[in-house]
Amino acid sequence: MSRFWSDVVKGLKPYVPGEQPKLANLVKLNTNENPYGPSPRVLEAIRAATGESLKLYPDPNAEQLKLAIAKYHAVDSSNVFVGNGSDEVLAHVFLALLKQAQPILFPDISYSFYPVYCGLYQVAYETIPLASDFSIQVGAYTRPNGGIIFPNPNAPTGCLVPLAEIERLLQSNRDSVVVIDEAYVDFGGESAIPLTVSYPNLLVVQTLSKSRSLAGLRVGFAVGHVDLIEALERVKNSFNSYPLDRLAIAGAVAAFEDRAYFEQTCQAVVATREKLSGELQAFGFEVLPSQANFIFVHHPQRDAQELALALRQRSIIVRHFKLPRIEQFLRITVGTDEQCAALVAALKEIISA
Ligand SMILES: *Cc1c(COP(=O)(O)O)cnc(C)c1O
Repeated sequence: MSRFWSDVVKGLKPYVPGEQPKLANLVKLNTNENPYGPSPRVLEAIRAATGESLKLYPDPNAEQLKLAIAKYHAVDSSNVFVGNGSDEVLAHVFLALLKQAQPILFPDISYSFYPVYCGLYQVAYETIPLASDFSIQVGAYTRPNGGIIFPNPNAPTGCLVPLAEIERLLQSNRDSVVVIDEAYVDFGGESAIPLTVSYPNLLVVQTLSKSRSLAGLRVGFAVGHVDLIEALERVKNSFNSYPLDRLAIAGAVAAFEDRAYFEQTCQAVVATREKLSGELQAFGFEVLPSQANFIFVHHPQRDAQELALALRQRSIIVRHFKLPRIEQFLRITVGTDEQCAALVAALKEIISA
């Protein structure tokens, strides 16, 4: 703390991302990255964009990428906003759409960046408890609010709200913006993007970090009514005109063009998730039903933090949140079959010891 800090900065509690240790041979199952590399066509496109043209600014509108996303999701490019990772898109959403007179609503157990943005932009919020089975009950959100936001599937639980329930929420909540953060939707959910045509207060946010294996490229986007997109553009153009660089635009466009690679790698992650869930259940773990690229698990006889430490001693890292209701859970990213086999073997050893 310094006397030169602004009052806002003095009050901030920044988000703490999962660690990125620089150790070799680590089984890294802590930050929900995709275990498969990006499409070879993405790497080729990035290489092709690496040259003399880097002396020039990129397209401030990333029009080529907006067109590729619009084509993929069958919307108009005027309905698409792009940003430097969906975290940046979400930050602009909080300032542009969720900073209202009434508090916004999000689940008590959810993406821990939401309260951080509320602190940064001075947005009031209330949390709505998940049901006892850790599901989001949309009925609990029917009360006056300045906006609603949750991930679907939720993080860190992996639980999915069916699309029909999202529509039920939209029917009962027409006077504030509903933001669905679909960071994990490609691993078993159905996107709410088609509903943006009928509900002008719906904004859907997605990322290329998880299902398209591009966490290192930093590309995220939002789809919604042009009025919502215009609000985001106003904030973006008051903050950074060029959030996406030339390499990110080229790589992201290529990612949307290689549908086969995307589908194949998502299917591989889903198959491994199901196998891993069954194996862990077989020796006593409770595994929440996941439609994401991670599972949220709990062992009735073993302390979660101790399990995480014992795994770490075997060079396997998973995520443990020291938070109310979930301190006895571990969030485990679905890796390759090989990585998950190493995890299962280690847990068996730890638990039988
Ligand atoms: C990973 C994640 C994001 C952020 O993704 P980036 O595009 O890498 O910034 C957003 N929301 C949720 C729920 C996530 O898990």
